[in-house]
Amino acid sequence: MSTFQTVRGMRDLLPEEAEVINYVITKARQTATLYGFREVITPIVEPYELLSAKSGEEIRQRMFTFKDLGDRTVALRPEFTASIARLATTAMKNEPKPLRVFSVGSVYRYDEPQKGRYREFWQSNFELMGSAKPEADAEVVLLTNSVMKNVGLQDYAIKLGHVGVLKGIMTQHSVEDKMQNAVLQRMDKKEYEAALALISSDECRNVLQGLIELKYDSVFDAVKKMKTHLQGYEKALNAVENLSAILKLVTESGCEIETVDPAFARGLEYYTGMIFEVHVPEMNIALGGGGRYDKLIEVFGGEPTPAVGVAHGLDRIALAMQSQKTALKTEEKKKVVVVPIREEQKGEALKIAQMLRDAGVSAKFEVMGRKMAKAMEDADKRKEADYAVIVGERELKEGKVVVKDLSKRTQTEVKIEELAQKIKS
Ligand code: AMP
Repeated sequence: MSTFQTVRGMRDLLPEEAEVINYVITKARQTATLYGFREVITPIVEPYELLSAKSGEEIRQRMFTFKDLGDRTVALRPEFTASIARLATTAMKNEPKPLRVFSVGSVYRYDEPQKGRYREFWQSNFELMGSAKPEADAEVVLLTNSVMKNVGLQDYAIKLGHVGVLKGIMTQHSVEDKMQNAVLQRMDKKEYEAALALISSDECRNVLQGLIELKYDSVFDAVKKMKTHLQGYEKALNAVENLSAILKLVTESGCEIETVDPAFARGLEYYTGMIFEVHVPEMNIALGGGGRYDKLIEVFGGEPTPAVGVAHGLDRIALAMQSQKTALKTEEKKKVVVVPIREEQKGEALKIAQMLRDAGVSAKFEVMGRKMAKAMEDADKRKEADYAVIVGERELKEGKVVVKDLSKRTQTEVKIEELAQKIKS
């Protein structure tokens, strides 16, 4: 019989890969705490209705949807925001605002598998609910900057935009919501020609085309030129004002915004305001993205609640760390193998291993029943331990064990009660 493989697009994360993902999770979680976000854990399986309500055609088509045994149409979550918006209208409805919520876990999309694009991937997700102020948008951009910095990335760029600009123009030209979403989805993929072809008004098309082709020297110049270009488009101008206020706050706080993209759009339908993404030069894909969604909680039956959030793609952050040769800053802890010399010392040796673990020392017990020399050879070859603790009859009688330093190849006798301390120091 042939061996089993993972389902296409699904991966096993082997120890080294799992270590990096867990490292990024730890940094994201620490950042959440630093910004005052509290973690919630929501189900991976949710009602299809909830997940499809406002996610947009693109994601709807890529969801893993199925009937459970109770004949309910359910899906694997393709993102976190819908689940958090559900919480905001149910169990967390009465929580004081602003509400800051963090989540981390796997999400599922039937994307075409390639480097940095999987069908099961990891996200850390931050939602800030209850404030319509630009400082709330700024906080979400800043915490994203902190996550990138805290994992050790050196070279990344933040791109800022505002869906209110494109939506404002189209609304003024009476383009229906559904069509607006179709246009934005194509703009998100930079399929500008296909996007513009959907619009029947020449004037509307020209204004959008002008935005796409707008030339500018700096992020502030971009905002200035947008204002000039959009004279007479009141809603779009309000959006530019808002974008300008957010840009000012973020840059004043010391975080650099590399680009303001006047024709920036994102695939998710629920965005209503500022949107942003993080990129690294070596990859043509986003490491994270988010924005403002002021209507979603209302659509889910809650009180009108302005909100802004972001999701970071942890697998892609891990890839960027690898390409930028980012070292994991982890505390180096000493590790030992514990080897009894004879059958009769097994019990005592296990007890010593337990004592070491209780003291926080990583101890592997010789479970293969090998002779000492063989066990030593293996420990040496694998380079997974700093010391071997050898438990023999003669030393035990004196309350001691033999500690062998596997790199220096020296060995000493150590009193059992001093063992953990000696190894740690
Ligand atoms: P989105 O919810 O589409 O804004 O996605 C947020 C982030 O998740 C993106 O910026 C990516 O970093 C990551 N992401 C999205 N789709 C995938 C995928 N198929 N594989 C790996 N990461 C992804």
